[in-house]
Amino acid sequence: MTTRSTAADAGALPGTGIRIDGLSKTFDTGRGRSVTALQDTHLHTDKSSFLSLLGPSGCGKSTILRILADLEHPTTGEVFVDGKTPSELRRDHELGIAFQDHALLPWRSVLTNIRLPFEIAGRTPDKDYIDELIGLVGLRGFEKAKPAQLSGGMRQRVSIARALTLKPSVLLLDEPFGALDDMTRQNLNLELLRIWTEKPATTLMVTHGISEAIFLSDRVAVMSPRPGRVKEIIEVDLPRPRLPEMQRTPEFHALVDQASELLFGDDGHAAAES
Ligand code: ADP
Ligand code: MG
Repeated sequence: MTTRSTAADAGALPGTGIRIDGLSKTFDTGRGRSVTALQDTHLHTDKSSFLSLLGPSGCGKSTILRILADLEHPTTGEVFVDGKTPSELRRDHELGIAFQDHALLPWRSVLTNIRLPFEIAGRTPDKDYIDELIGLVGLRGFEKAKPAQLSGGMRQRVSIARALTLKPSVLLLDEPFGALDDMTRQNLNLELLRIWTEKPATTLMVTHGISEAIFLSDRVAVMSPRPGRVKEIIEVDLPRPRLPEMQRTPEFHALVDQASELLFGDDGHAAAES
């Protein structure tokens, strides 16, 4: 399998956006064994652009996000966003993170969960901004509710709001709507699009949904099975604002077909997991 150059440099300001070069990650699994999750991965995006990662299970998508979030360290390679390393991004509270297991604190309300990042950063909560975020994710009236009193979709919206609390320049979303039914997912995708349009951040989203990846993104990176590397970047040249009816156009279907072929091969068979 050939790996094309994935450096989508055209138009990018030097040093801005995500710059992942030669990234490899090997996990030591004990007794002299190891798993190579990522091998020589390259990924570049522009500042404030939306990139989705598609790939078979186990190809290292979450590992890329965890490295960007400074939760794992690369074995080799370089990772920068807007010229900063993951630990600098974390130190400067530039990261907004929403992963599938929403990790809301069950004893806290919607409001105090969303406020939490201010407390962790030792900053005075910006009440007006928190209120704006609650409105943005459609949770007004639920400020005092506890996570257990909310639907799955509402809990994910709290997670997204919490990820935005400190106005991050980098938003990392790992299958944020993975566990939800199709209708809720579609609605939340539209909300995410609206939020991202209002508060643009350099966004990297892992998803299993080919259509949602195309619908939301400026670029879609398709990864190969483990050890993962970026196989190809699809440029999504659909105009913005993106409207739901665009998902019925031939242009949209052509992009979905292109991504499906890269993922599953043109005979429709999933690339084998190693
Ligand atoms: P994806 O998100 O694409 O499904 P992951 O990034 O979670 O894949 O994992 C990639 C590979 O690395 C998998 O084979 C997984 O088992 C392995 N892996 C991930 N994290 C660890 C870890 N902490 N220790 C050992 N192996 C790991
Ligand atoms: Mg994962």
